[in-house]
Amino acid sequence: MSTNRVHRIAVIPGDGIGKEVVPEGVRVLEAAAKKFGFKLQLDNFDFASCDYYEKHGRMLPEDWKDQIGKHDAIFFGAVGMPDKVPDHISLWGSLILFRREFDQYVNLRPVRLMPGVPSPLAGREPGDIDFWVVRENTEGEYSAIGGRMFAGTEREVVVQETVMSRVGVDRVLKFAFELAQSTPKKHLTSATKSNGIAITMPYWDERVKEMAKSYPDVKWNQFHIDILTAHFVMNPDKFNVVVASNLFGDILSDLGPACTGTIGIAPSGNINPERKYPSVFEPVHGSAPDIYGQGIANPIGQIWSGAMMLEHLGESEAAKAIVTAIEKVLAEPKLRTRDLKGPANTVECGKAIAEALA
Ligand code: ATP
Ligand code: MG
Repeated sequence: MSTNRVHRIAVIPGDGIGKEVVPEGVRVLEAAAKKFGFKLQLDNFDFASCDYYEKHGRMLPEDWKDQIGKHDAIFFGAVGMPDKVPDHISLWGSLILFRREFDQYVNLRPVRLMPGVPSPLAGREPGDIDFWVVRENTEGEYSAIGGRMFAGTEREVVVQETVMSRVGVDRVLKFAFELAQSTPKKHLTSATKSNGIAITMPYWDERVKEMAKSYPDVKWNQFHIDILTAHFVMNPDKFNVVVASNLFGDILSDLGPACTGTIGIAPSGNINPERKYPSVFEPVHGSAPDIYGQGIANPIGQIWSGAMMLEHLGESEAAKAIVTAIEKVLAEPKLRTRDLKGPANTVECGKAIAEALA
């Protein structure tokens, strides 16, 4: 196999258990590189952490974009130590800036029931739940446009606008249709609420219909967000790729992983699909200050995020092999971490996945 593929990765452990699970993610990435014949250039950064904030009074150095903006991707742990630095400072001073400055307009989360992970949905087996949530990540309902009139009086009125641009809607739909097209089921579901939100949501639906014309082999349907959340719980086997606006996607991308068991294994990507800027791959969980320092955190969310990163970088085979290795290890009760009622610690679980891969 050729070894001229080099991927340059900025590794940012951040806070709390990020510092414990990122090394396990790196261990598995390195095992994948060895096995699949590509090279990784891993550059470590201590910023985007509360330790950095305590030393420098800011989450990121002034030249952070020069330092990490040319990397192929960012492998991120977690940020936040609410006892030391308020969350709005740590989060808005790091991850949210990455999302905006690096135009990561897709938030991608797989929703997949894994072996050994009890689903809160009774009777569901691995294989029953296996789909993707694609969330629009830069506009929509989360705009800062609006205001408050007659503040503090009985006539008080507050307004906040939803912003949908054609470019903004089309680009996330294109990503979702292409993802759907690349899967065996070739199916896409769009989240809407055009029966209640009478201007922006009909526009969203219109653009979905238009985009679908370019993907004649992709079958698609749409549900209003209220009944869609019910289907997530009642009929999760119905889904393949689900695409949603910023707010609806935010809700679905937490509901989905919740239906598949533990927060410790869910991965995510904040993606700039054109690769004009680096994308961030990070576990769904946070810095978990309550268990930090004990070496018991589940590293699988981080390791799986590494698999998503490799997929984004074009290393599909390696990405699939990592997910298979995760499944193998999860099937083995003695290799599970404490959140899954197993005896393994963070390092043991990470090593087992790296070995299963090799
Ligand atoms: P965020 O920082 O994303 O807002 P949060 O601070 O609300 O998240 P987390 O840090 O994810 O929450 O922790 C929530 C709970 O899940 C905690 O009890 C934590 O110990 C547990 N937890 C989170 N991640 C893991 C993990 N990888 N392994 C085991 N337990 C975890
Ligand atoms: Mg937190």
